[in-house]
Amino acid sequence: MKPLLTALLLSATVATTAIAAWPINDICPVDNKAARPIYRVKTDDGMVAFCCSTCMQAFTRSPGKYTVKRKAQ
Ligand SMILES: [Zn+2]
Repeated sequence: MKPLLTALLLSATVATTAIAAWPINDICPVDNKAARPIYRVKTDDGMVAFCCSTCMQAFTRSPGKYTVKRKAQ
């Protein structure tokens, strides 16, 4: 019984983390292409997604240079 309870608690934690990690945008702020959630960076506003790792690195170097367009809620 105890291992089952632990597994349930663990899966609940994972689900909550996945929602919190969901990006706030769906357009890459660097070159305005479609963003893919696998390329993402945590900012003060939440997760920001990019189209590729190159854009992700460009944003990480100078985040103030780019404007993140939030997707419609
Ligand atoms: Zn991009």
